[in-house]
Amino acid sequence: MADEIEPANLSLTNVTFDLEYAPALESKSIVSIDKEYGLFIGGKFVEPKDGKKFVTVSPSTEEKLSQISSASAADVDRAVKAARKAHTEIWGRMSGRDRAKYLFRIARQLQERAREFAVLESIDGGKPIRESRDVDVPLAAAHFFYHAGWADKLEYAFPDRRIAPKGVVGQIIPWNFPLLMLAWKIAPALATGNTVVLKPAETTPLTALLFAQLLQDVDLPPGVVNIVTGAGATGSALVEHKDVDKLAFTGSTSVGKQIQRSAAARGLPLTLELGGKAAHIVFEDAALDQAVEGVINGIYFNQGHVCCAGSRLLVQESIADSFIDRLKNRMSTLRVGDPLDKNTDVGAINSSEQLGRITALVEAGVAEGAEIYQPSCALPAKGYWFRPTIFTNVQQSHRIAREEIFGPVLSVLTFRTPEEAVAKANDTQYGLSAGIWTEKGSKILWMADQLDAGVIWANTFNQFDPASPFGGYKESGFGREGGLQGLSAYVSLSSPRGAS
Ligand code: NAP
Ligand code: MG
Repeated sequence: MADEIEPANLSLTNVTFDLEYAPALESKSIVSIDKEYGLFIGGKFVEPKDGKKFVTVSPSTEEKLSQISSASAADVDRAVKAARKAHTEIWGRMSGRDRAKYLFRIARQLQERAREFAVLESIDGGKPIRESRDVDVPLAAAHFFYHAGWADKLEYAFPDRRIAPKGVVGQIIPWNFPLLMLAWKIAPALATGNTVVLKPAETTPLTALLFAQLLQDVDLPPGVVNIVTGAGATGSALVEHKDVDKLAFTGSTSVGKQIQRSAAARGLPLTLELGGKAAHIVFEDAALDQAVEGVINGIYFNQGHVCCAGSRLLVQESIADSFIDRLKNRMSTLRVGDPLDKNTDVGAINSSEQLGRITALVEAGVAEGAEIYQPSCALPAKGYWFRPTIFTNVQQSHRIAREEIFGPVLSVLTFRTPEEAVAKANDTQYGLSAGIWTEKGSKILWMADQLDAGVIWANTFNQFDPASPFGGYKESGFGREGGLQGLSAYVSLSSPRGAS
Protein backbone atom coordinates (compact mmCIF):
# COMPACT_ATOMS: atom_id res chain seq x y z
CA MET A 1 0.00 0.00 0.00
CA ALA A 2 1.33 3.44 -0.85
CA ASP A 3 1.82 5.76 2.10
CA GLU A 4 -0.51 8.75 2.21
CA ILE A 5 1.34 11.67 0.67
CA GLU A 6 0.57 15.16 -0.46
CA PRO A 7 0.27 15.37 -4.30
CA ALA A 8 2.88 18.12 -4.30
CA ASN A 9 5.38 15.69 -2.76
CA LEU A 10 4.66 12.92 -5.21
CA SER A 11 7.89 11.62 -6.60
CA LEU A 12 9.32 8.14 -6.85
CA THR A 13 11.78 8.78 -4.05
CA ASN A 14 9.22 9.42 -1.33
CA VAL A 15 6.69 6.73 -2.23
CA THR A 16 7.23 3.67 -0.09
CA PHE A 17 5.47 0.34 -0.37
CA ASP A 18 4.55 -2.12 2.29
CA LEU A 19 5.96 -5.39 0.94
CA GLU A 20 4.14 -7.64 3.38
CA TYR A 21 2.54 -10.48 1.49
CA ALA A 22 -0.88 -11.74 2.53
CA PRO A 23 -0.64 -15.38 3.65
CA ALA A 24 -1.14 -17.86 0.79
CA LEU A 25 -1.57 -21.12 2.64
CA GLU A 26 -1.58 -24.46 0.88
CA SER A 27 -4.46 -26.50 2.28
CA LYS A 28 -3.63 -29.47 4.47
CA SER A 29 -6.90 -31.16 3.61
CA ILE A 30 -5.35 -33.17 0.79
CA VAL A 31 -3.36 -35.32 3.23
CA SER A 32 -4.71 -37.70 5.77
CA ILE A 33 -2.20 -38.87 8.34
CA ASP A 34 -2.99 -42.12 10.16
CA LYS A 35 -2.71 -42.21 13.94
CA GLU A 36 -0.06 -44.89 13.62
CA TYR A 37 1.82 -46.80 10.96
CA GLY A 38 3.23 -50.31 10.75
CA LEU A 39 6.37 -51.44 8.94
CA PHE A 40 5.98 -52.10 5.21
CA ILE A 41 7.20 -55.68 4.76
CA GLY A 42 6.21 -58.17 2.07
CA GLY A 43 3.69 -55.74 0.56
CA LYS A 44 1.76 -55.25 3.81
CA PHE A 45 1.86 -52.97 6.82
CA VAL A 46 2.80 -55.13 9.80
CA GLU A 47 3.31 -54.40 13.49
CA PRO A 48 6.88 -54.42 14.79
CA LYS A 49 7.62 -57.65 16.70
CA ASP A 50 8.26 -55.86 19.98
CA GLY A 51 5.49 -53.27 19.39
CA LYS A 52 7.86 -50.31 19.78
CA LYS A 53 6.73 -46.96 18.35
CA PHE A 54 8.07 -43.41 18.21
CA VAL A 55 6.47 -40.08 17.39
CA THR A 56 7.10 -37.94 14.33
CA VAL A 57 6.41 -34.25 14.82
CA SER A 58 5.92 -31.26 12.57
CA PRO A 59 9.00 -29.08 13.11
CA SER A 60 7.07 -25.90 12.28
CA THR A 61 4.42 -26.41 14.97
CA GLU A 62 5.87 -29.13 17.28
CA GLU A 63 2.53 -30.90 16.77
CA LYS A 64 2.66 -34.70 17.13
CA LEU A 65 1.71 -36.12 13.76
CA SER A 66 1.72 -39.89 14.13
CA GLN A 67 3.12 -42.94 15.90
CA ILE A 68 5.71 -44.68 13.76
CA SER A 69 6.91 -48.26 14.16
CA SER A 70 10.47 -48.82 15.25
CA ALA A 71 11.96 -51.84 13.47
CA SER A 72 14.17 -54.12 15.56
CA ALA A 73 16.84 -56.44 14.18
CA ALA A 74 14.17 -59.17 14.00
CA ASP A 75 11.93 -56.91 11.88
CA VAL A 76 14.84 -56.02 9.61
CA ASP A 77 15.44 -59.76 9.22
CA ARG A 78 11.79 -60.23 8.17
CA ALA A 79 12.17 -57.44 5.63
CA VAL A 80 15.39 -58.86 4.18
CA LYS A 81 13.77 -62.31 3.91
CA ALA A 82 10.78 -60.77 2.08
CA ALA A 83 13.15 -58.95 -0.27
CA ARG A 84 15.16 -62.15 -0.89
CA LYS A 85 12.04 -64.14 -1.69
CA ALA A 86 10.76 -61.41 -4.04
CA HIS A 87 14.14 -61.27 -5.75
CA THR A 88 14.48 -65.02 -6.22
CA GLU A 89 10.91 -65.72 -7.22
CA ILE A 90 9.75 -62.64 -9.10
CA TRP A 91 11.73 -59.46 -9.57
CA GLY A 92 15.16 -60.92 -10.38
CA ARG A 93 13.56 -63.04 -13.14
CA MET A 94 11.19 -60.46 -14.56
CA SER A 95 11.97 -58.99 -17.98
CA GLY A 96 13.25 -55.43 -18.06
CA ARG A 97 10.20 -54.51 -20.09
CA ASP A 98 7.88 -55.60 -17.31
CA ARG A 99 9.95 -53.94 -14.59
CA ALA A 100 9.76 -50.75 -16.64
CA LYS A 101 5.96 -50.88 -16.61
CA TYR A 102 5.96 -50.83 -12.81
CA LEU A 103 8.47 -47.97 -12.69
CA PHE A 104 6.42 -45.93 -15.15
CA ARG A 105 3.33 -46.59 -13.04
CA ILE A 106 5.11 -45.40 -9.90
CA ALA A 107 6.33 -42.26 -11.70
CA ARG A 108 2.87 -41.43 -13.00
CA GLN A 109 1.27 -42.00 -9.60
CA LEU A 110 3.82 -39.67 -8.01
CA GLN A 111 2.83 -37.02 -10.54
CA GLU A 112 -0.87 -37.58 -10.02
CA ARG A 113 -0.53 -37.36 -6.25
CA ALA A 114 2.17 -34.68 -6.34
CA ARG A 115 0.30 -32.17 -4.19
CA GLU A 116 -0.41 -34.75 -1.50
CA PHE A 117 3.26 -35.77 -1.35
CA ALA A 118 4.43 -32.15 -1.35
CA VAL A 119 2.13 -31.07 1.48
CA LEU A 120 3.04 -34.11 3.57
CA GLU A 121 6.76 -33.53 2.98
CA SER A 122 6.45 -29.93 4.16
CA ILE A 123 4.39 -30.87 7.22
CA ASP A 124 6.73 -33.66 8.37
CA GLY A 125 10.07 -32.07 7.47
CA GLY A 126 9.52 -28.30 7.60
CA LYS A 127 10.64 -27.37 4.07
CA PRO A 128 8.77 -24.64 2.17
CA ILE A 129 5.89 -25.94 0.06
CA ARG A 130 7.30 -24.08 -2.94
CA GLU A 131 10.36 -26.33 -2.77
CA SER A 132 8.60 -29.63 -2.09
CA ARG A 133 6.08 -28.77 -4.82
CA ASP A 134 8.56 -27.50 -7.43
CA VAL A 135 11.71 -29.47 -6.66
CA ASP A 136 11.44 -32.53 -4.41
CA VAL A 137 8.35 -34.21 -5.80
CA PRO A 138 8.83 -33.47 -9.53
CA LEU A 139 12.45 -34.61 -9.32
CA ALA A 140 11.42 -37.79 -7.48
CA ALA A 141 8.97 -38.56 -10.31
CA ALA A 142 11.65 -37.70 -12.87
CA HIS A 143 14.00 -40.26 -11.30
CA PHE A 144 11.41 -43.00 -11.71
CA PHE A 145 10.69 -41.96 -15.31
CA TYR A 146 14.40 -41.86 -16.15
CA HIS A 147 15.12 -45.27 -14.67
CA ALA A 148 11.95 -46.77 -16.16
CA GLY A 149 13.51 -45.84 -19.49
CA TRP A 150 16.68 -47.81 -18.71
CA ALA A 151 15.00 -50.94 -17.30
CA ASP A 152 14.52 -52.61 -20.72
CA LYS A 153 17.67 -51.13 -22.26
CA LEU A 154 20.37 -52.29 -19.89
CA GLU A 155 22.22 -54.04 -22.71
CA TYR A 156 22.65 -50.59 -24.30
CA ALA A 157 23.73 -49.07 -20.99
CA PHE A 158 26.42 -51.74 -20.60
CA PRO A 159 27.12 -53.06 -24.10
CA ASP A 160 28.94 -56.37 -24.53
CA ARG A 161 28.68 -57.26 -20.86
CA ARG A 162 26.66 -59.81 -18.97
CA ILE A 163 24.48 -57.88 -16.56
CA ALA A 164 23.15 -59.22 -13.26
CA PRO A 165 21.42 -57.43 -10.41
CA LYS A 166 23.26 -57.39 -7.08
CA GLY A 167 20.26 -58.99 -5.32
CA VAL A 168 18.90 -57.55 -2.07
CA VAL A 169 19.94 -53.95 -1.47
CA GLY A 170 19.96 -52.19 1.92
CA GLN A 171 19.42 -48.43 1.64
CA ILE A 172 19.54 -45.75 4.36
CA ILE A 173 18.50 -42.15 3.74
CA PRO A 174 18.57 -38.82 5.64
CA TRP A 175 15.88 -36.29 6.50
CA ASN A 176 16.72 -33.36 4.26
CA PHE A 177 15.12 -34.64 1.01
CA PRO A 178 13.10 -37.61 2.28
CA LEU A 179 11.10 -38.52 -0.84
CA LEU A 180 13.77 -37.44 -3.29
CA MET A 181 16.49 -39.50 -1.59
CA LEU A 182 14.09 -42.44 -1.56
CA ALA A 183 13.66 -42.03 -5.32
CA TRP A 184 17.43 -41.69 -5.90
CA LYS A 185 17.87 -44.99 -4.08
CA ILE A 186 14.88 -47.11 -5.10
CA ALA A 187 14.52 -46.20 -8.81
CA PRO A 188 17.94 -47.43 -10.04
CA ALA A 189 17.79 -50.49 -7.77
CA LEU A 190 14.44 -51.63 -9.18
CA ALA A 191 15.31 -50.76 -12.77
CA THR A 192 18.26 -53.16 -12.62
CA GLY A 193 16.33 -56.05 -11.00
CA ASN A 194 17.26 -55.65 -7.33
CA THR A 195 14.87 -55.75 -4.41
CA VAL A 196 15.09 -53.23 -1.60
CA VAL A 197 14.96 -52.75 2.15
CA LEU A 198 14.96 -49.00 2.84
CA LYS A 199 15.27 -47.16 6.13
CA PRO A 200 13.99 -43.56 6.12
CA ALA A 201 15.25 -41.01 8.65
CA GLU A 202 13.62 -40.97 12.06
CA THR A 203 12.25 -37.42 11.79
CA THR A 204 10.77 -37.73 8.27
CA PRO A 205 9.14 -41.12 7.73
CA LEU A 206 5.73 -40.02 6.44
CA THR A 207 6.33 -39.60 2.70
CA ALA A 208 8.13 -42.98 2.61
CA LEU A 209 5.05 -44.55 4.23
CA LEU A 210 2.74 -42.80 1.76
CA PHE A 211 5.03 -44.10 -0.98
CA ALA A 212 4.52 -47.61 0.44
CA GLN A 213 0.75 -47.11 0.05
CA LEU A 214 1.37 -45.97 -3.53
CA LEU A 215 3.30 -49.21 -4.16
CA GLN A 216 0.27 -51.18 -2.99
CA ASP A 217 -1.90 -49.15 -5.37
CA VAL A 218 0.34 -49.92 -8.35
CA ASP A 219 0.39 -53.63 -7.40
CA LEU A 220 4.15 -53.84 -7.10
CA PRO A 221 4.80 -57.50 -6.24
CA PRO A 222 5.08 -58.01 -2.46
CA GLY A 223 8.59 -57.80 -1.02
CA VAL A 224 10.17 -55.92 -3.95
CA VAL A 225 10.33 -52.80 -1.75
CA ASN A 226 10.25 -53.00 2.06
CA ILE A 227 10.32 -49.93 4.28
CA VAL A 228 11.59 -50.28 7.83
CA THR A 229 11.17 -47.15 9.91
CA GLY A 230 13.22 -46.53 13.05
CA ALA A 231 16.24 -44.74 14.44
CA GLY A 232 19.96 -45.33 13.99
CA ALA A 233 19.74 -48.82 15.53
CA THR A 234 17.39 -49.93 12.73
CA GLY A 235 19.88 -48.64 10.17
CA SER A 236 22.67 -50.44 11.96
CA ALA A 237 20.69 -53.72 11.96
CA LEU A 238 20.25 -53.37 8.20
CA VAL A 239 23.95 -52.69 7.68
CA GLU A 240 24.92 -55.71 9.79
CA HIS A 241 22.43 -58.12 8.21
CA LYS A 242 24.22 -61.11 6.70
CA ASP A 243 21.96 -61.53 3.67
CA VAL A 244 22.21 -58.09 2.11
CA ASP A 245 24.16 -57.95 -1.18
CA LYS A 246 24.78 -54.22 -1.44
CA LEU A 247 24.50 -51.14 0.77
CA ALA A 248 23.76 -47.56 -0.23
CA PHE A 249 23.89 -44.80 2.38
CA THR A 250 23.25 -41.08 2.34
CA GLY A 251 23.93 -39.21 5.56
CA SER A 252 26.68 -37.90 7.77
CA THR A 253 30.36 -38.64 7.27
CA SER A 254 30.68 -40.09 10.79
CA VAL A 255 27.94 -42.71 10.29
CA GLY A 256 29.22 -43.30 6.74
CA LYS A 257 32.64 -44.23 8.13
CA GLN A 258 31.10 -46.79 10.52
CA ILE A 259 29.18 -48.32 7.64
CA GLN A 260 32.28 -48.39 5.48
CA ARG A 261 34.16 -50.35 8.15
CA SER A 262 31.37 -52.88 8.43
CA ALA A 263 30.96 -53.28 4.65
CA ALA A 264 34.72 -53.53 4.08
CA ALA A 265 35.01 -56.35 6.62
CA ARG A 266 32.52 -58.36 4.54
CA GLY A 267 33.61 -57.21 1.08
CA LEU A 268 30.14 -55.76 0.49
CA PRO A 269 29.64 -53.27 -2.38
CA LEU A 270 28.85 -49.84 -0.95
CA THR A 271 28.02 -46.34 -2.14
CA LEU A 272 28.32 -43.42 0.27
CA GLU A 273 26.84 -39.96 -0.24
CA LEU A 274 28.07 -37.93 2.72
CA GLY A 275 28.52 -34.34 3.84
CA GLY A 276 29.98 -31.29 2.14
CA LYS A 277 31.37 -27.79 2.67
CA ALA A 278 31.12 -26.41 -0.84
CA ALA A 279 33.04 -23.38 -2.02
CA HIS A 280 30.90 -20.92 -3.93
CA ILE A 281 33.38 -18.74 -5.80
CA VAL A 282 32.47 -15.29 -7.13
CA PHE A 283 34.93 -13.38 -9.37
CA GLU A 284 34.91 -9.63 -9.88
CA ASP A 285 33.88 -10.07 -13.52
CA ALA A 286 30.74 -12.11 -12.67
CA ALA A 287 27.18 -10.98 -13.43
CA LEU A 288 26.72 -9.84 -9.84
CA ASP A 289 22.92 -9.69 -9.62
CA GLN A 290 22.68 -13.27 -10.84
CA ALA A 291 25.55 -14.29 -8.56
CA VAL A 292 23.68 -12.84 -5.56
CA GLU A 293 20.64 -14.96 -6.44
CA GLY A 294 22.84 -18.02 -6.91
CA VAL A 295 24.62 -17.55 -3.58
CA ILE A 296 21.31 -16.98 -1.74
CA ASN A 297 19.79 -20.08 -3.33
CA GLY A 298 23.00 -22.01 -2.71
CA ILE A 299 22.84 -21.56 1.05
CA TYR A 300 19.23 -20.81 2.06
CA PHE A 301 17.49 -23.40 -0.16
CA ASN A 302 15.94 -26.01 2.17
CA GLN A 303 17.18 -24.04 5.23
CA GLY A 304 20.73 -24.99 4.24
CA HIS A 305 19.96 -28.65 4.99
CA VAL A 306 21.66 -29.55 1.74
CA CYS A 307 24.77 -31.69 1.44
CA CYS A 308 25.93 -29.72 -1.61
CA ALA A 309 24.99 -26.29 -0.13
CA GLY A 310 27.33 -23.46 -1.10
CA SER A 311 28.19 -22.83 2.53
CA ARG A 312 31.59 -21.16 1.99
CA LEU A 313 31.41 -18.04 -0.15
CA LEU A 314 34.79 -17.16 -1.66
CA VAL A 315 34.45 -13.67 -3.10
CA GLN A 316 37.18 -11.75 -4.90
CA GLU A 317 38.59 -9.08 -2.60
CA SER A 318 38.03 -6.20 -5.04
CA ILE A 319 34.23 -6.64 -4.91
CA ALA A 320 33.86 -8.20 -1.46
CA ASP A 321 32.35 -5.21 0.39
CA SER A 322 29.81 -4.32 -2.27
CA PHE A 323 28.90 -7.96 -2.87
CA ILE A 324 28.31 -8.54 0.84
CA ASP A 325 26.09 -5.42 0.95
CA ARG A 326 24.04 -6.81 -1.93
CA LEU A 327 23.75 -10.16 -0.17
CA LYS A 328 22.56 -8.52 3.05
CA ASN A 329 19.97 -6.53 1.11
CA ARG A 330 18.68 -9.67 -0.55
CA MET A 331 18.65 -11.53 2.78
CA SER A 332 16.41 -8.88 4.28
CA THR A 333 13.71 -9.83 1.75
CA LEU A 334 13.72 -13.56 2.59
CA ARG A 335 10.50 -14.63 4.25
CA VAL A 336 11.00 -17.12 7.08
CA GLY A 337 7.96 -18.95 8.41
CA ASP A 338 5.14 -21.38 7.82
CA PRO A 339 6.33 -24.04 5.35
CA LEU A 340 2.80 -24.34 3.96
CA ASP A 341 2.69 -20.66 2.98
CA LYS A 342 3.50 -20.37 -0.72
CA ASN A 343 5.36 -17.10 -0.03
CA THR A 344 7.80 -18.71 2.39
CA ASP A 345 11.46 -18.78 1.33
CA VAL A 346 12.98 -20.37 4.44
CA GLY A 347 11.00 -22.93 6.43
CA ALA A 348 11.53 -24.67 9.76
CA ILE A 349 14.72 -26.37 10.93
CA ASN A 350 14.08 -30.10 10.68
CA SER A 351 14.41 -31.01 14.37
CA SER A 352 15.30 -29.53 17.74
CA GLU A 353 18.56 -31.59 17.64
CA GLN A 354 19.55 -29.99 14.34
CA LEU A 355 18.63 -26.55 15.68
CA GLY A 356 20.93 -27.27 18.63
CA ARG A 357 23.81 -28.23 16.28
CA ILE A 358 23.39 -25.08 14.17
CA THR A 359 23.16 -22.85 17.24
CA ALA A 360 26.32 -24.37 18.76
CA LEU A 361 28.35 -23.86 15.57
CA VAL A 362 27.10 -20.29 15.16
CA GLU A 363 28.10 -19.56 18.76
CA ALA A 364 31.52 -21.01 17.98
CA GLY A 365 31.78 -18.66 14.99
CA VAL A 366 31.06 -15.64 17.18
CA ALA A 367 33.49 -16.85 19.87
CA GLU A 368 36.26 -17.33 17.27
CA GLY A 369 35.90 -13.70 16.19
CA ALA A 370 33.88 -13.84 12.96
CA GLU A 371 31.33 -11.07 12.42
CA ILE A 372 27.71 -12.19 12.34
CA TYR A 373 24.78 -10.62 10.45
CA GLN A 374 21.15 -11.72 10.57
CA PRO A 375 18.19 -9.79 9.14
CA SER A 376 15.65 -8.82 11.77
CA CYS A 377 12.82 -11.05 10.63
CA ALA A 378 10.12 -12.17 13.05
CA LEU A 379 10.10 -15.89 13.81
CA PRO A 380 6.99 -17.93 14.73
CA ALA A 381 6.54 -18.56 18.45
CA LYS A 382 6.37 -22.35 18.17
CA GLY A 383 8.56 -24.69 16.18
CA TYR A 384 12.28 -24.78 15.32
CA TRP A 385 13.59 -21.74 13.49
CA PHE A 386 16.88 -20.11 12.61
CA ARG A 387 17.35 -16.75 10.93
CA PRO A 388 19.32 -16.64 7.67
CA THR A 389 22.85 -15.86 8.82
CA ILE A 390 26.02 -14.59 7.21
CA PHE A 391 29.49 -14.51 8.78
CA THR A 392 32.20 -12.17 7.53
CA ASN A 393 35.83 -11.90 8.74
CA VAL A 394 36.01 -15.68 8.63
CA GLN A 395 39.40 -17.39 8.80
CA GLN A 396 40.15 -20.73 7.12
CA SER A 397 40.83 -22.20 10.56
CA HIS A 398 37.43 -21.26 12.04
CA ARG A 399 35.06 -24.12 12.75
CA ILE A 400 32.38 -22.36 10.67
CA ALA A 401 34.75 -22.52 7.68
CA ARG A 402 35.59 -26.20 8.16
CA GLU A 403 32.62 -28.04 9.64
CA GLU A 404 29.36 -28.73 7.91
CA ILE A 405 26.69 -26.60 9.65
CA PHE A 406 23.78 -28.01 7.63
CA GLY A 407 21.73 -24.90 8.35
CA PRO A 408 21.07 -21.41 6.87
CA VAL A 409 24.53 -20.08 7.67
CA LEU A 410 26.98 -18.69 5.11
CA SER A 411 30.69 -18.17 5.90
CA VAL A 412 32.42 -15.56 3.73
CA LEU A 413 36.13 -15.64 2.85
CA THR A 414 37.97 -13.58 0.26
CA PHE A 415 40.67 -14.24 -2.35
CA ARG A 416 42.77 -12.20 -4.77
CA THR A 417 43.77 -14.62 -7.54
CA PRO A 418 42.21 -17.73 -9.11
CA GLU A 419 45.09 -19.77 -7.66
CA GLU A 420 44.27 -18.55 -4.17
CA ALA A 421 40.57 -19.33 -4.72
CA VAL A 422 41.46 -22.90 -5.73
CA ALA A 423 43.78 -23.38 -2.75
CA LYS A 424 41.13 -22.15 -0.31
CA ALA A 425 38.31 -24.06 -1.99
CA ASN A 426 40.24 -27.33 -1.82
CA ASP A 427 41.38 -26.80 1.77
CA THR A 428 38.64 -28.99 3.22
CA GLN A 429 38.07 -32.62 4.14
CA TYR A 430 35.04 -32.65 1.83
CA GLY A 431 34.70 -32.69 -1.96
CA LEU A 432 31.07 -32.81 -2.98
CA SER A 433 30.23 -29.67 -4.95
CA ALA A 434 31.42 -26.20 -5.93
CA GLY A 435 30.11 -23.15 -7.76
CA ILE A 436 31.93 -20.65 -9.99
CA TRP A 437 30.66 -17.24 -11.09
CA THR A 438 32.60 -15.46 -13.84
CA GLU A 439 31.87 -14.19 -17.33
CA LYS A 440 35.07 -15.79 -18.60
CA GLY A 441 34.61 -19.31 -19.99
CA SER A 442 38.30 -20.20 -19.92
CA LYS A 443 38.44 -19.36 -16.22
CA ILE A 444 35.48 -21.67 -15.57
CA LEU A 445 37.21 -24.55 -17.35
CA TRP A 446 40.53 -23.95 -15.60
CA MET A 447 38.86 -23.70 -12.17
CA ALA A 448 36.67 -26.76 -12.73
CA ASP A 449 39.77 -28.73 -13.60
CA GLN A 450 41.51 -27.69 -10.38
CA LEU A 451 38.64 -28.08 -7.90
CA ASP A 452 38.31 -31.35 -5.96
CA ALA A 453 34.55 -31.64 -6.16
CA GLY A 454 32.22 -34.22 -7.69
CA VAL A 455 29.72 -31.65 -8.99
CA ILE A 456 30.67 -28.18 -10.21
CA TRP A 457 28.14 -25.59 -11.31
CA ALA A 458 29.13 -22.52 -13.33
CA ASN A 459 26.99 -19.38 -13.31
CA THR A 460 24.20 -21.36 -11.68
CA PHE A 461 23.80 -23.55 -8.59
CA ASN A 462 21.69 -26.44 -7.29
CA GLN A 463 20.73 -27.84 -10.69
CA PHE A 464 19.76 -31.51 -10.60
CA ASP A 465 18.81 -33.96 -13.30
CA PRO A 466 18.36 -37.73 -13.10
CA ALA A 467 20.67 -38.16 -16.09
CA SER A 468 23.51 -36.32 -14.38
CA PRO A 469 25.64 -38.28 -11.90
CA PHE A 470 25.94 -36.80 -8.41
CA GLY A 471 28.49 -37.70 -5.74
CA GLY A 472 31.68 -36.71 -4.00
CA TYR A 473 35.38 -37.12 -3.36
CA LYS A 474 37.35 -37.36 -0.13
CA GLU A 475 35.12 -37.45 2.97
CA SER A 476 32.04 -36.64 0.89
CA GLY A 477 31.91 -40.30 -0.06
CA PHE A 478 32.24 -42.38 -3.20
CA GLY A 479 30.03 -43.74 -5.93
CA ARG A 480 27.58 -41.72 -7.99
CA GLU A 481 23.80 -41.46 -8.08
CA GLY A 482 21.97 -40.68 -11.29
CA GLY A 483 23.01 -41.27 -14.88
CA LEU A 484 24.79 -44.38 -16.13
CA GLN A 485 27.29 -44.18 -13.29
CA GLY A 486 24.48 -44.40 -10.75
CA LEU A 487 22.92 -47.31 -12.57
CA SER A 488 26.21 -49.21 -12.65
CA ALA A 489 26.33 -49.31 -8.83
CA TYR A 490 23.36 -51.69 -8.85
CA VAL A 491 24.62 -54.28 -11.34
CA SER A 492 27.38 -56.86 -11.51
CA LEU A 493 29.04 -56.81 -14.92
CA SER A 494 31.06 -59.61 -16.43
CA SER A 495 32.37 -60.56 -19.86
CA PRO A 496 29.85 -62.39 -22.01
CA ARG A 497 30.28 -66.15 -22.34
CA GLY A 498 32.94 -66.97 -24.89
CA ALA A 499 34.52 -63.51 -24.79
CA SER A 500 38.19 -63.38 -23.96
P1 NAP B 1 22.93 -39.36 9.82
O1 NAP B 1 22.79 -39.20 11.25
O2 NAP B 1 24.15 -39.98 9.27
O3 NAP B 1 21.63 -40.20 9.36
C1 NAP B 1 21.42 -40.67 8.06
C2 NAP B 1 20.60 -41.94 8.15
O4 NAP B 1 21.36 -42.95 8.79
C3 NAP B 1 19.33 -41.80 8.97
O5 NAP B 1 18.34 -42.63 8.43
C4 NAP B 1 19.79 -42.29 10.32
O6 NAP B 1 18.76 -42.69 11.16
C5 NAP B 1 20.68 -43.45 9.93
N1 NAP B 1 21.65 -43.84 10.94
C6 NAP B 1 22.06 -43.17 12.05
N2 NAP B 1 22.98 -43.88 12.72
C7 NAP B 1 23.17 -45.03 12.01
C8 NAP B 1 24.02 -46.16 12.18
N3 NAP B 1 24.87 -46.27 13.19
N4 NAP B 1 23.96 -47.16 11.26
C9 NAP B 1 23.14 -47.07 10.20
N5 NAP B 1 22.31 -46.03 9.99
C10 NAP B 1 22.33 -45.01 10.88
O7 NAP B 1 22.76 -38.03 9.01
P2 NAP B 1 21.61 -36.97 9.16
O8 NAP B 1 21.99 -36.10 10.29
O9 NAP B 1 20.29 -37.63 9.17
O10 NAP B 1 21.75 -36.22 7.77
C11 NAP B 1 22.55 -35.13 7.60
C12 NAP B 1 23.87 -35.52 6.95
O11 NAP B 1 23.65 -36.21 5.71
C13 NAP B 1 24.68 -34.32 6.59
O12 NAP B 1 26.00 -34.50 7.00
C14 NAP B 1 24.59 -34.26 5.07
O13 NAP B 1 25.64 -33.66 4.42
C15 NAP B 1 24.44 -35.65 4.69
N6 NAP B 1 23.74 -35.76 3.41
C16 NAP B 1 24.44 -36.09 2.29
C17 NAP B 1 23.80 -36.17 1.06
C18 NAP B 1 24.55 -36.54 -0.18
O14 NAP B 1 23.93 -36.83 -1.18
N7 NAP B 1 25.85 -36.53 -0.20
C19 NAP B 1 22.44 -35.94 0.96
C20 NAP B 1 21.74 -35.61 2.12
C21 NAP B 1 22.41 -35.54 3.34
P3 NAP B 1 18.10 -41.58 12.12
O15 NAP B 1 17.32 -40.69 11.25
O16 NAP B 1 17.24 -42.33 13.03
O17 NAP B 1 19.23 -40.90 12.84
MG1 MG C 1 8.86 -35.10 11.38
